Amino acid sequence: MVCGSQDLGRLARDAWLTGGSEQAKEVLLRYADWCVQITSKLTDQQWSDLTSKEFGAPNEVLADLYIATGKAEYLELAKRFRKEPMVAALEKNNTEILGGRHANTEILLFVGYERIYEATGEERWHKAAANFWEGVQRQQTFAFGGNSIWEAFVKSAEFDRKLVDICGPETCNTYNLLKLTRQLHELEPQARYSDYMERALYNHILTSLGPGPEGGFAYYTPTRPGHYKRYSKPFDAFWCCVGSGMENHGRYGSYIYSVSAERLMVNLFVPSVARWKEKGIELRQTTGFPDDGIVTLTVKAEKPVEFTLSVRCPGWADASKVRLRVNGKELDLKASAGSYLDVKQSWQNGDVLQAYIPLEARMEKSSGNGYAAFFHGPILLAAKLGNEGLVKDDFYADGSKDFIQLGRREMDQAKVPTVVPGVALPVKVKGKETAYSLKTSTGETTLVPFYKIGLERYSIYFPVR
Ligand SMILES: [Zn+2]
Repeated sequence: MVCGSQDLGRLARDAWLTGGSEQAKEVLLRYADWCVQITSKLTDQQWSDLTSKEFGAPNEVLADLYIATGKAEYLELAKRFRKEPMVAALEKNNTEILGGRHANTEILLFVGYERIYEATGEERWHKAAANFWEGVQRQQTFAFGGNSIWEAFVKSAEFDRKLVDICGPETCNTYNLLKLTRQLHELEPQARYSDYMERALYNHILTSLGPGPEGGFAYYTPTRPGHYKRYSKPFDAFWCCVGSGMENHGRYGSYIYSVSAERLMVNLFVPSVARWKEKGIELRQTTGFPDDGIVTLTVKAEKPVEFTLSVRCPGWADASKVRLRVNGKELDLKASAGSYLDVKQSWQNGDVLQAYIPLEARMEKSSGNGYAAFFHGPILLAAKLGNEGLVKDDFYADGSKDFIQLGRREMDQAKVPTVVPGVALPVKVKGKETAYSLKTSTGETTLVPFYKIGLERYSIYFPVR
């Protein structure tokens, strides 16, 4: 049970419950029985010592085992794997407790607490997990959807000071926070959960993948202006974020749609096909998003069928400009940002719902107000700052040495582009690919989507001076 993204319990659980492996089931149940037996006589002090460091998320897997087998001892042990002061504080919405905590240990545990709620219906676990999610969004989340510096949550008052550290958010944290987000969304679908999925997938997960044939996965994604990412190597430099990183890029499809008995929700704008067996329909989504905001949904139906087709009106959108058309006819709707637009009707083969959601330039300030980040709709923009002072090896970590130490080639903060208070939003550059021009201290600075930045220095945060 180490850095919980890839611990034995989770791997065996997935191989059994998702992959249907009987061998994995046998291994996992024996492992769980051993865990129950070996921990049964631990004193409270011993238990506290055992759970004082990063220990994965046995509570999530044990709750799954309780659901699958009904054995109460698995549930009891799932509940014992908790940090009671954290659960109690978050149940009361005291989110200040997060500052300084090892972030991924906590995120994983809250995934497990929410799973215990799903298994038992006991409110406190869900209340704590929902408050935790809100607190992380409000206090801990950087522009690309990641959290933590040197793997730890930051204290609210220190956000801007930590932002210039060379060690940015860990990819595994976002992998796990996406899991919690999906759990909460499944329980009570809300556009802001999908807003977070979109932010995190485009701006963190996609950027964690190294460019070109070398590929590789980033462990930390620096927020420091003028810094750069470092990627893994296939044989002698890899870490937890490589394991969860491989999984990340196979999961994109799982976030795009949600379904309930009578409702199909379009959460994300990604070219794709959804098949809804129960209704005998297929929904094809075509879009040039995020370069444009036109989303076309075409229904293929065996026979006319009534259901609600819901399209997300994102929190970042100017809702007054959002339009929906069914078979070319504009709908009279009152859209509000951060909600779902519901179209309930009998859908027939060939029906087309078209959504227009304009992507415009916007700015978000850092938590301490000292830095500005710019966006194209949900897409974080970055200034490309070249690779002066860097050679190719600087972008790939050496597993035998401290890869952060090796990467200490910081850019002087006096030389990074800054903006003035009240700076005008960047102006879109004409062309097929998304690019913007921003007035900064170094002149007209070109901004491109952060996910296009590879082996080079970049700024996603601009000091406001
Ligand atoms: Zn990791």
